[in-house]
Amino acid sequence: MKSHAQVVVIGGGVVGCSVLYHLTKAGWKDVVLVERDELTSGSTWHAAGGMHTINLDPNVAKLQQYTINLYKEIEEISGQSCGVHITGGIMLAGTEERLDWLRQAHARGRYLGMSMEFVSLDEAVRRFPLMEKKYFKGALYDPIEGHVDPAGVTNAYAKAARVQGAEVYRFTRVTALEQFPDGSWNVVTEKGSIRAEHVVNAGGLWAREVGRMVGLELPVLAMEHQYLITEEIPEVKASKTEMLHVIDFEGEIYMRQEGTGMLMGTYERRGVPWSERSTPWNFTHELLAPDLDRIAPSLEVGFKHYPAIERAGIKKVINGPFTFAPDGNPVVGPIRGLRNYWVACGVMAGFSQGGGVGLALSNWMVNGDPGFDIWAMDVARFGDWATLAYTNAKVRENYSRRFRIRFPNEELPAARPLRTTPVYDRLKERRAVFGVSYGLEHALWFAPEGMEPVEEVAFRRSNAHATVAEECRAVRTGVGLMETSTYSKYEVTGAGAEAWLSRLLVNRMPQQGRIVLAPMLNPGGKLIGDFTVAKAGPERFYVFGSGIAEDYHMRWFEAQLPASGVAIRPLRSELVGLSVAGPKSRELLQSLVAEDLSNDAFPFLSFRQIDIGMIPAKIGRITFTGDLGYEIWVVVDYQRALYDRIVEAGREFGLRHFGARALHSLRLEKSFGTWAREFRPIYGPFEAGLSRFVDLRKNDFIGRDAALAEKEAGPKRRLVTFVVSDAGADCIGDEPVWHEGKVVGWITSGGYAHHVGKSVALGYVPAELAAAPSGFEIEILGNRRPAAIAPKPLFDPEGKRMRG
Ligand SMILES: Cc1cc2nc3c(=O)[nH]c(=O)nc-3n(C[C@H](O)[C@H](O)[C@H](O)COP(=O)(O)OP(=O)(O)OC[C@H]3O[C@@H](n4cnc5c(N)ncnc54)[C@H](O)[C@@H]3O)c2cc1C
Repeated sequence: MKSHAQVVVIGGGVVGCSVLYHLTKAGWKDVVLVERDELTSGSTWHAAGGMHTINLDPNVAKLQQYTINLYKEIEEISGQSCGVHITGGIMLAGTEERLDWLRQAHARGRYLGMSMEFVSLDEAVRRFPLMEKKYFKGALYDPIEGHVDPAGVTNAYAKAARVQGAEVYRFTRVTALEQFPDGSWNVVTEKGSIRAEHVVNAGGLWAREVGRMVGLELPVLAMEHQYLITEEIPEVKASKTEMLHVIDFEGEIYMRQEGTGMLMGTYERRGVPWSERSTPWNFTHELLAPDLDRIAPSLEVGFKHYPAIERAGIKKVINGPFTFAPDGNPVVGPIRGLRNYWVACGVMAGFSQGGGVGLALSNWMVNGDPGFDIWAMDVARFGDWATLAYTNAKVRENYSRRFRIRFPNEELPAARPLRTTPVYDRLKERRAVFGVSYGLEHALWFAPEGMEPVEEVAFRRSNAHATVAEECRAVRTGVGLMETSTYSKYEVTGAGAEAWLSRLLVNRMPQQGRIVLAPMLNPGGKLIGDFTVAKAGPERFYVFGSGIAEDYHMRWFEAQLPASGVAIRPLRSELVGLSVAGPKSRELLQSLVAEDLSNDAFPFLSFRQIDIGMIPAKIGRITFTGDLGYEIWVVVDYQRALYDRIVEAGREFGLRHFGARALHSLRLEKSFGTWAREFRPIYGPFEAGLSRFVDLRKNDFIGRDAALAEKEAGPKRRLVTFVVSDAGADCIGDEPVWHEGKVVGWITSGGYAHHVGKSVALGYVPAELAAAPSGFEIEILGNRRPAAIAPKPLFDPEGKRMRG
C-alpha cells in the first residue's frame, strides 16, 4: 500500500469508482481508492441498475444524460462490460395533472437536447404490450433509458481508473481521519496509514460515519427499498425486442425486463428508514427481510395495470438500503471550513447520476470549479439546520413522494415549522400562508377573512391569484409590509474589509452611508453571487444576499479571507428584517422616526443607523419591489416591537401585508433577476444584464479578465423580459423559448405581473435575437404561446418611483 497519495477516495461503490476514474481522466494519477470490503459491497451490488435522464432540475438532468453516454467510454478503456441495455423507456400518466407534469418535463427536455416524444396510448401498448390501456391518459417515450449491470459498471470505472494510473485497495477500512496543519490528511486504515492531500467521502451507506470522523453530520439517510422479480412471462419470452423501462406514476412503480420475466420496484408511501442513527460496519453484501405487506398497495395497482405480472407470480423479492438527501438529489462538493475534504454521497440513482457526480467533483478538485451549475447537488444547499432528525423527516417525505407530482407552488410539510422569527405568530394571526427557505418560515401571501390560509397546488393559477393581486395593488398604490429575514446578511469588518470586498465583488464599494449592488464572479467570469453592500462605518460593511446561498457563499468568502485584517460573520437570525414599500412608505416611516427621511436628506440607496422610537435599527432605502421603499434591519430581540409599531402606525396609511408571491410579481414587472434563477454560475454578468454593476476601471477583482473578455467579445446570449400571450397559465421557469419554429432559449422565471396586468417571463435567448421584433413562442404545459420581448421593464422603466 502507498504511504502517500494526492487523493484518497473512501468507498468503492459506483460513486467512489466514478470519482476515481474522473480524477485520472482529468490528469491526477497519484490517486487511490480504499474499500472496506469488496467493490460494490454497500448499496451498489443489489441495485436494479435502471437509468433515465429525467430530473426536475435541468442541470442534474444534463449530468444524467452525460452518465448514460459515458458507459461506452469506460467499457472501451477497461475492457469490462457494463451490461448496458438501452431499451428506451415510457412514462405513463394516469391523470390530467400527471400529464401536465409530463408536458413540463418534455418541454424542459427540448432545450436540453433530449429527444423525448409523446406517443398515443395505442402506440404505447404496441411498444409495451403488458399495459392495460384503460388506466392511462398519456405516455411519454424517451429513447435513452434502460438498465446496466451494477457490478459491471462499478468494476469498469475502477479498471479504467487503474489503466490510467490509480490504485484500488480492497478489504481496507478507513478507521480515522486526522488533519495535519498544512491541510493534508492522515488516512488511517486497518492496514496502515496514507498521507493524502485530499480525501473524498464516497462512503455511501457509511457516508455519515466517514463524515463523523471529521465532526460532520451529513444530511443523508438510508431507506429500505424493495423490488420483485417475476417468474417467466410468456409475452416477455415471446417478444423479439426487450421490454421497455417503464415508470407508472399512479402505481408508484418502475419496471424493466429481467430474464424472461419483469423486475418491478416501488417507492411506497410508508417507507421505512434503515439504520437511522449509524450504519453497522459489518453489513456487507446483505439484504433485508422482504415486507410485501408494506408495498401491497403499489403491487395491487401494478397487478391491475399489468395483469401479466400478476399471472406470472413472484420469483424473488429484494429489499436493500440506499441513501437519500432530504430533497433526493446528491450531496457533492467541498465542505465549508474544512480544507481538502470532499463529499460525493446521497446519490440515490447511482447509475443515472454517478458519472455526472464524478465529473463535477473531479473538475472541482482539479480546476477549483465544478464546471457546471451543480447547485441542485451542492452540499452547501443544506445549512447546519439540516440535523439528523430533520434529515430523517425530509428523507421519509421525499421517498414517499418519489413518483408523486411536485407542483410548482407546492410547499412540502415535513420538518416544519423549524426556524421561525419572532413575528411568525403575528403573521400567522394575519392568516399568512407560509413557505420555507433555508429552513426558515416566511409568508407567501395572506389569506383574507373567510378564506382558509391554504394554497391549492396547481400548474395553473392558484387560489392565491386574486389575493396576491390585491397585495401588489397595495404596494403600487399605497404601502405594504413584508418580512425580509430570509435574505442572508453578513457583517464584514476590519481595516482590510473594503479592499477585500472590492477584490471579491465587481462593483466599486459604496461611500459611508450608501449602498451599491454588486455581483460576484468566479475566476472564469461567471456569476457566483449577487449582493447589496452597505457601508456602515470606515471598517464596517453589511452585505445582503440570497438566503439559500449562505453556506455556499460563506464557503467562498472564507476560502478568500486573508490571514488578518478582515473578518466576516453571517448574521442569519441575529439580524432580521421588515420592509415597507410603496408610494406611502416614506410617510409611514417618517411618522415613526425623528430623522428627516425626505428624498434630499435620505435619498435612494442610503443606509443609516436610525432609531424607530426606542428600537435601534439600520435602514436602507431600497426594496426589491422596484418602488419607493425601505428595508429595516434590527437585532432579533426588537423585531416584534418593530412590527407592532409599524402595524399600528400603518393603520392610518392603509398598510397591507404582502408576501413572497407578491414580491415575485412586482420584481418581474421591473425585470429584476434573482439568484439561482436568472443569476447562476453558467452566466456572465453582461449576458445577465448586470453591466451597470460591473466596474472594470476600479481595482483588479476576481473574474475581471474573463468579464473583460465577455464584454469585448460581446455576450453570446442575453437575459430578456417576455410578455406572454395569456392563457390562464404562466411560466414557472425552465420552459423552452421558440423562435420561428426552433428552440432557441429557456425561461428562468415567470408569473403574472399584477400591476401591469400581463403574464411575464424572464429568460435567455441568443444575443442576436434579443432585439428580434417578433416570432417568439414559449411552451407552457404543452401549448406554444406567442410572446414578445419587452425592450424595457414594464413598470417604471426609468426607476422614478425608486428614486422619487
Ligand atoms: C434495492 C435497490 C434498488 C436500486 N435500484 C437502482 C436503480 O435501478 N438505478 C439506480 O441508479 N440506482 C438504484 N439503486 C441505488 C444505487 O444502489 C445507489 O445510488 C448507489 O449504490 C450509490 O452508490 P455509492 O457508491 O454512493 O454507495 P455504496 O454502494 O453504499 O458504496 C459505498 C462504499 O463505501 C465503502 N465504505 C464506506 N465506508 C468506508 C470506510 N470507512 N472505509 C472503506 N470503505 C468504506 C462501502 O463498503 C461501500 O462499498 C438501488 C438501490 C437499492 C438498494
